[in-house]
Amino acid sequence: MTDEQTGLFELPQRYVDLQAEAHRLAASCEDVADRADEADRFDPDVRERLAASGLCEVVVAAEYGGRFEAVDSLAVTVVREQLAAVSDHLDSMFAMQGIGSFAVSVAGSDAVRKQWLPQVAALEAIAAIGLTEPGVGSDLRAITTTVEEHDGELVVNGHKSFITNAPDASFFAVLAKEDDGYSLVFVPADAPGVTVTTPHQILAPHVLGDVVLEDVRVPVDHRLGEPGQGFRLMLSTLATFRVSVAGASVGLAEAALHEAVAHATTREQFGMPLAKLGGVPASLATCWVEIEAARAITYRAAAAAARDPLAGLHLSSIAKVHATEACGRVVDRCVQVMGRFGLVRGGKMERIYREARPMRIYEGSTEVILDSLAKKLVKDLAQ
Ligand SMILES: Cc1cc2nc3c(=O)[nH]c(=O)nc-3n(C[C@H](O)[C@H](O)[C@H](O)COP(=O)(O)OP(=O)(O)OC[C@H]3O[C@@H](n4cnc5c(N)ncnc54)[C@H](O)[C@@H]3O)c2cc1C
Repeated sequence: MTDEQTGLFELPQRYVDLQAEAHRLAASCEDVADRADEADRFDPDVRERLAASGLCEVVVAAEYGGRFEAVDSLAVTVVREQLAAVSDHLDSMFAMQGIGSFAVSVAGSDAVRKQWLPQVAALEAIAAIGLTEPGVGSDLRAITTTVEEHDGELVVNGHKSFITNAPDASFFAVLAKEDDGYSLVFVPADAPGVTVTTPHQILAPHVLGDVVLEDVRVPVDHRLGEPGQGFRLMLSTLATFRVSVAGASVGLAEAALHEAVAHATTREQFGMPLAKLGGVPASLATCWVEIEAARAITYRAAAAAARDPLAGLHLSSIAKVHATEACGRVVDRCVQVMGRFGLVRGGKMERIYREARPMRIYEGSTEVILDSLAKKLVKDLAQ
């Protein structure tokens, strides 16, 4: 994709069409979003509608039933922006199909790809990725899960924690130590020795679980890529998908602003709408400014990642930090504008407030991303 094709500030028609398609799917899930976003297992209606929409084809390469030749960050981002505005559950279900299967797309054996990727695209198989452990979050080089090759098989042992989709997953891409390096291993969820538990519920309910792997044996062709390529594959997954978290944040922030504007223009105090009182107009306008700025950097970063994910990783990281932090500020301001009505449990604003929070922690917390950006900045300037 060239700069002319992406336009400086406008999406090419293909993405506009995709955006409209995602918007239609999101609108069709409005009636079940309240329930789905409180669920800690896959919501059957959301799953059925997402599967019927065919949108999971966006996260799989064309060769295996996908829509784009290779997974396209801009496409994933514009879809997530629309889905997250309506339902975190729907957005997560869509995004994880890509995040959990990406290493399979780029490094899986022919047999594994052919068997599983068309099922991912059709939402018949549920993808998940296991990096985090009870004692290890940001510092992934400290993981204790191991993989060893024995008698023509891979044997995996360890404990993965906070794994999205775990209770419903069909397979896990598991990061494990192998000799002095790290490998990603494809582990079917029904392999003997795999146990899934659900010890954690978070403030914004999510399909989450822990995965214990005890002497799990899989064929050698279930190693994704060569031994020791685990971190490289993880990095290319991040490079393709991190920016899409920014897209989801923009969608969520915009949904908050719509709620706040609707409230502030209909509720009156002191004889006039809230939208004309004191600091409220400036608050609403500041939200708008932040959302548009976040969207601009997000689309730019996503277009760069679509061209060359690894070369654009710093831009994706900047977009992720900027958009998720902006979303947090916007949502907080919108709650304030709505007063007590923004706090009512079960209300849309309360749900958005909770859903905005984890975005600043997963797929690279703000502080960890800033740390790596600072290192790059110093290194680049020193050259
Ligand atoms: C909703 C949700 C879904 C998730 N899904 C998955 C999944 O599917 N698969 C998976 O593997 N994991 C998943 N995770 C886990 C997620 O990846 C981790 O939460 C994340 O990597 C951060 O690790 P941690 O929570 O252990 O925080 P820690 O690493 O303990 O960090 C705690 C705090 O210290 C800061 N910090 C840590 N290191 C540094 C540093 N070097 N410099 C500055 N500050 C630092 C962090 O920014 C943070 O503020 C999920 C988490 C959530 C909340």
